[in-house]
Parts: sequence; structure tokens; C-alpha cells
Amino acid sequence: MSGSLTPSINATALRTQLCGSLRPEHIGQSVTLCGWIARRREHGEHLAFLDVRDYSGVVQCVVSDVKDVRNEWVVQITGKVQARPEGTVNANLPTGGVELVECQLTVLNAAESPPFPIDARADDVDEGVRLKFRYLDIRRERMQKNLRIRAKVNSAIRGAMEAQNFVEVETPFLMPSTPEGAREFLVPSRKEPGSFYALPQSPQLWKQLLMVAGIDRYYQIARCLRDEDLRADRQYEFMQLDAEMSFVTKDDVLAAISRAVVAAAEAALGQTPPPIEQITWHDAMNRFGSDKPDLRFGMELIDLTDVFAATEFKAFATAKSIKGLRVDAATYPEAAASGRSKLDAFTDRAKQMGAKGLVWIKVGDDLALDSPVAKFLSDAERAALLQQMQAKSGDLLLLVADEWSTTCEVLGHLRNDIGRPPVHEGPYRYVWVIDFPLFVGVNAITGKPQPGHHPFCQPHPDDIERLESDPMSVRALAYDLVLNGWELGSGSIRIHDPEMQRRVFRQLGISDEDADRRFGFFLQPFKYGAPPHGGFAFGTDRLVAILAGEENIREVIAFPKTQSGSDPMTNAPTPVDPAQLNELGIRLLPPPAKS
Ligand code: ASP
Repeated sequence: MSGSLTPSINATALRTQLCGSLRPEHIGQSVTLCGWIARRREHGEHLAFLDVRDYSGVVQCVVSDVKDVRNEWVVQITGKVQARPEGTVNANLPTGGVELVECQLTVLNAAESPPFPIDARADDVDEGVRLKFRYLDIRRERMQKNLRIRAKVNSAIRGAMEAQNFVEVETPFLMPSTPEGAREFLVPSRKEPGSFYALPQSPQLWKQLLMVAGIDRYYQIARCLRDEDLRADRQYEFMQLDAEMSFVTKDDVLAAISRAVVAAAEAALGQTPPPIEQITWHDAMNRFGSDKPDLRFGMELIDLTDVFAATEFKAFATAKSIKGLRVDAATYPEAAASGRSKLDAFTDRAKQMGAKGLVWIKVGDDLALDSPVAKFLSDAERAALLQQMQAKSGDLLLLVADEWSTTCEVLGHLRNDIGRPPVHEGPYRYVWVIDFPLFVGVNAITGKPQPGHHPFCQPHPDDIERLESDPMSVRALAYDLVLNGWELGSGSIRIHDPEMQRRVFRQLGISDEDADRRFGFFLQPFKYGAPPHGGFAFGTDRLVAILAGEENIREVIAFPKTQSGSDPMTNAPTPVDPAQLNELGIRLLPPPAKS
């Protein structure tokens, strides 16, 4: 045997190095590997090729007199690295130029046959099965890659925050219920039956208190819990980079968070994203019909209110806002040829999103308009419409007439439905959406405005005087970070004046007495010298998913819940022992009848 290996950081008492690390430069060396049998191929009566896999890759081992080893058995194998014979080199495999010969095999553990193949074929296996056997699913290259990208991203974020003098502080998991907006998970108290802790929907209150406490710059990669319906980009439990800074304006916060985002992108992709642009919430809605605009594609909404200012067409005459979406043949090859069922589907979608209807217009040869409403439009209106929308033959125009917010939202959804590329496609387009409204919509129960972000956002100084007279028109010093149409996170400059906090609470229907009773612990400290402060939080699951090219955050979380909130592996949530409930003073009602 010639030469010994430079000891690798991966060497242990059982192995000299990782399976995927063997290269032609190792030829002639003796190595010991550990891993799982990925594949066994017989070669004559006494010889077998065994592919041995660990997280770093697979390597081919030529073994004589192999007995009973099957896929997923755990083995240790010692052998000599040799160049693969001519004609058998596998250029697709990093270890494909070499193989291990003169092998001695030790079985470390036998294995039952797995319920699905431990390779890319398992992508097509029912997700419930993948999650039931998640430990096998994670053995696969895709999950190994994703979890390692995740770890790199977390580490890069920590590095970037620490380089900016942020201090990592851990905050409690058991806390009182807070008014942040999401439904909370409650934990019954055994010592005080009938009382509950809430699990943090975010460390919001704690981080603001840390600013009062003079920490100056706080961060934490924090676990947050929200009892909300699960979707591709939402889990009950999720992780976020949570940060807060004292003596700052919005631009200080955005700059600090940008550094963390850039570091994460560099760690995951080896590329530095360009400086992140900013757009106001109003412009984002107006141009893209969304507060999380996907800037990877155009198809901006076009304002047509002026075009139809004097129209006689009834559906347009009284509308406050008319907007159009131009679908060209490059984006949507069937645009002008769209059949009835496609157009009906667009119309249904528009109605589902709150529009009274959708006007479609196909632009034919010579710019002739084909539409059920064409006959109601004057020549001047047709010409202005074509001009404003820069329409050409082959385009499909989709128009909505309604309140401004409805025209934006409905066409924003259609824009995404029609034009949005899959997550792994196109460049990474980050954007800060700034100046969010302080309040959005009205709470169905209280009839009071609801916070746009949460109740601790500072109203925009230019709008404060309208806080009581016209609250819905007030902007907040609040901002979101959006990447390729996904909301990564949000933040704001906070209220640091207790009286301003009360004014905002009053708008939300929380009286001064209520506020003292429920959040006195939070309001009280602000009397003792709260610095101006602001912060931000972004979801690392979402960031990692996009950087890993995954459509669903479950693919980048080791042990996620299914869409219905359960865990097929542990069966959680499960009923508990009646004695446990007794101790907590809890008696169960019969489950509600299923509708
Ligand atoms: N607490 C907020 C959230 O979790 C973020 C922030 O305002 O800093 O969404």
C-alpha cells in the first residue's frame, strides 16, 4: 500500500474519509469508508459491485464473496482506490473515475427493505409516506442538500448580524397572549388551572423591551408559532431572523437586514444579489396588484380610468378605477386564441377575488377588437385603450372596473396566475415594499380597523394628524421584504411614546383600561426611557426554500407538519391521558359535529 491519507476532518475511529470524496488523486491509497448500500449489482458468481453511499456521495466498490448485504444495510468497507478500467468511467459521478477494490466488508447493521427507494424516485411518493418515514427521506440527496443549504444560510446570517454588533438574546417560549394578530397556540397552566400561556407568534414584545433595556442591537434566529391554516409557504412552527435596533430610521434597519440577506444568498448560491430596490406599498399595488410583487416578469397593470372617463358603457361609467392587464402571446401563447372555457376560468377567478366581472378583449389582425363589450366602446375609446395598453395583434386584454383596491388585487392575481415563473426560474428579485398602511380592513367582530402589520408600528409622521379622523388613510413606517413574489418578512419603526401607543390601541378598540390590564407589562417599561427603535424579521424557511429552488417550505424543514397540521411519523397531535387533563383542570367537550 502506498501513501497514507492526510487525516480528514471527517475521519473517525470507523472511517478514514467520506464516500463521495474519492478522486483519481487517491489512486493507490487504502481507505476505509462507512455508509449505506445504495445499489448492488452481481458480476459473475463471486463478484459484486456495491455502491456505498453517505451524505457526500456514492462510490463503487468491487467486492468478492459478498454474502447477504442488501440495499440500505449499513457497512464499513476497507479497500484500495483504483482507476476504473477504460470504458467504465462514469463522468456523471464525482467519484466516477475511481473504484474501490480488494475490499473487506463489515456489516454494521442490517436493514429492512425501505418503503420507497432512497433516491430521486421518492419525489413522486405520496408526501404523507415521505413524512412518515422522514428519516429515510432525509437520507436522500435532495433533502441532504436542502438541510445543508439551510445550515449554511443560518450560519451566514449569524455571521452577518454579529459582524454588525447584534447580540443574540434568547426570549421566552411561555408568555402571555399578545395582540400581534395571529391565532396563538395556548398552553394550559397546571399551577393556575384556567390560566394559559401563549407560545410566541414572534419575539416582538421581548425585543422591544430589550431596546428599553439598552441592548441596542438584538437578534435571534427564533422559532415562532402561529395557529393558522398551513400552505406551501406556511407551517405552524417556523424560523425567522428576528432583529431590533435602537436609535435608527427605516434605512438603517433595511441596510442591516440587507447585509444578512446578501450573506445568506452568497452562502447558498455563491452569488451576490444586486442592491435591493424599494417600492412603496401604493405603487406595488398600483403597478403589480400585490403587496408582494414578483418582479421577475413585467405585465404591469395599466390604469385606464382616464380612457373611459366619459364613457357611455354602463359597467365602466360609474367605476372609481378601471385597470387593464395586457397578456401578450410571448407570455401566454394562446392569448388571442383563448377559447371560451379559458376566458370563463379567468372570469370565475376574478369574481372569486371580489370583482363584479371581468371584461376580456382579444386584439385581432389590424387591431380589431373581439369582445362582448366592443360594441359599447366609441372609436376614440378603442384607440385610446390600444394606445394606453400598447396593445398589438395577438394580445389578450383583461379589464376590471371597481374600487381601486379591487381592480388592483383582482388583476394582480390574474397577473400571477398567467405570468409567474416557477420558483427555481429566473433571477432572484428582492424588493423592499415600504410605507404599508397602518390599518387594513375591519375586524368582523369588533368593527374596528385591523393592524396592517401589528399594533406597535409607528404611524407615518406626515399622516399622524389623521389617526383619529381618517385612520384608514394613515401609512405606517412599516416595510416588507419580498423575493420573487414571496413575502420573506416584515418590520417597522416602532412606537416608543406610550401615549402614541394608546392612541393606536384606541383605534383598534382596545381601551386604556384594557391595554393596561392586558399589556401593562409592555406599556409600563416605555415610561422609563424607551429609545426610538425599529426592527425586522424574515422567515428563514422561505428564504432557504427559494434559494434551494423548492416550491414548498416543507422541503427545507427536517420534520414539518402536513398541510392538515399533523405529523404522520409521530401521529401528533394525539389525545392525552385523562389524568393529565384533570391535573390541568381541563374537561373536554364532545368534538363538534362534522359538517
Ligand atoms: N414581529 C414581526 C413578525 O414576526 C416582525 C417585526 O415587526 O419585527 O412578523
